[in-house]
Amino acid sequence: MGSDDQPPAKRRRMDLSKSILVLVGKEEKPFTVPRSFLTKSSEFFVTCLNGAWKEASSKEVKLPDIMPDIFEIYLQWLYTGELVYTDQDLNDMPGGDIILALAVYRALIRLAIAGDVLQDIPFRNAVVDATISVLPKIPILPSAGLINLAYENLPRAGGLIRLMVRDAAGSWIAQDTPCEEGPAKFLADVIGELRTAMRNGTILRDYVKLEERCTYHEHNDRVPKCETAKK
Ligand SMILES: [Zn+2]
Repeated sequence: MGSDDQPPAKRRRMDLSKSILVLVGKEEKPFTVPRSFLTKSSEFFVTCLNGAWKEASSKEVKLPDIMPDIFEIYLQWLYTGELVYTDQDLNDMPGGDIILALAVYRALIRLAIAGDVLQDIPFRNAVVDATISVLPKIPILPSAGLINLAYENLPRAGGLIRLMVRDAAGSWIAQDTPCEEGPAKFLADVIGELRTAMRNGTILRDYVKLEERCTYHEHNDRVPKCETAKK
């Protein structure tokens, strides 16, 4: 085991005997969740359950800013490691189903926002991976409403916004579809992406590949870099 006094996180045994009541959304929908799941990767829950709360008798946490449907997707990811954010089979998506494509885009943005509220880097990285996988299947640009939703609630330098910008820059080149919608910041970011690509000779025409995902991830002491894919 070397000099580490703790085994790797994923092999650590979990104490599942203690549960927390999480009241989600404005309607305070109740979810009872083992404490060790909540503190697995969410810095929000770590702070809230290990800090001043540790001694408190209350075993209740309120999350008014996250909708219950999004929290359920988060919980399923916590329990299974899978991010299941739509019931639709996206492999079988009719090309013209713009409504479904926009719903998928909206779900990903809302999940990224929840990842920010929960301060959960592995979850945010999982949303990035899901976005990279699905973008080739939803060949549309996000609507102005979705761009605003993202820019008003997510860090501009975060993975999801950078992917949206990269995707818009790529389709602008590939399909001659100028982005006429969206806030000025988004247009400025797309132009910046195009300028950097021109300077570096990068080809933006292709979709971002899953091997490049780490470029859009966040990593720190607790979340080590992903292993580079072996060739
Ligand atoms: Zn990574």
